[in-house]
Amino acid sequence: MQHDELLIGTMLEGMARWVAVRTTDTVEEARRRHGLSPVATAALGRLMTGTLILASSLKGDESITLRLLGDGPLEGVVAVGNAQGEVRGYVHEPLVDLPLKVSGKLDVGSAVGRGELAVSKSLQNGEVYTGVVPMVSGEIAEDLVQYLLTSEQIPSALLLGVRVEKDYHVVGAAGLLIQPLPGATEADIQAIENRIGQLGVGISELVAQSQSVDEMLELLMGPLPYHVLERRAVGFTCNCSKERLSDTLVSIGKKGIADLVSDEKAEMVCHFCNEHYQFTLEELLQLSEQAE
Ligand SMILES: [Zn+2]
Repeated sequence: MQHDELLIGTMLEGMARWVAVRTTDTVEEARRRHGLSPVATAALGRLMTGTLILASSLKGDESITLRLLGDGPLEGVVAVGNAQGEVRGYVHEPLVDLPLKVSGKLDVGSAVGRGELAVSKSLQNGEVYTGVVPMVSGEIAEDLVQYLLTSEQIPSALLLGVRVEKDYHVVGAAGLLIQPLPGATEADIQAIENRIGQLGVGISELVAQSQSVDEMLELLMGPLPYHVLERRAVGFTCNCSKERLSDTLVSIGKKGIADLVSDEKAEMVCHFCNEHYQFTLEELLQLSEQAE
């Protein structure tokens, strides 16, 4: 059976690096957990896929958070990922529905709108670096390319795609990042641009047709020579737990806890994965004592 996987490698005899990822199951799980509409699935799926690609160059337990703060009806899309291939995320308005574009594609740009893309890296030494760039189109791949160019001075080509069926299921989600390395010639860059221009079909179609990430990669690269250096499993993973939410409750204090109680119990929901946690009155009283 196929599974989601991220591959890292080089191409054009070491003149460029690439990261390719299949996220079909990851995006389907996000859709199912949050009950997302098709355009919300495409927006969150593209952002989660881009997050996994950017997170692949992090070390240890470092993490990266991408926030699209647009003026469109989704009212914000958030994804968090790490180098272990774990990603989670949500949209503020999961049920947004918009007419398809003339091309027949989901109108992610209108759903996200215009505004800012904020990228925060949480490093091993505890420091957090945040870069903010204006969004180019809200279509997400273009916005991330702009971020990489202006904040990190790295020219990149990036494809992100999510294909949603009429029954709302995700049948293909994937991403490909290509970055020329120092020493790459004009001809190398031209070869990459030509290849991407020639593709004709979207990356979500290619992954839906392929039996494996390797097959998708062959279809994407065509005649360009490439090497695979590393492969990692990826998936939707949230780090929430009742213990973590208990700590949050303690931190909001006695008054905050009292405000949450209704019918002698309380329910807390994790934004990132939509898991529901129940707290009984007895548990809340205990936490309230700890909060003092
Ligand atoms: Zn969670």
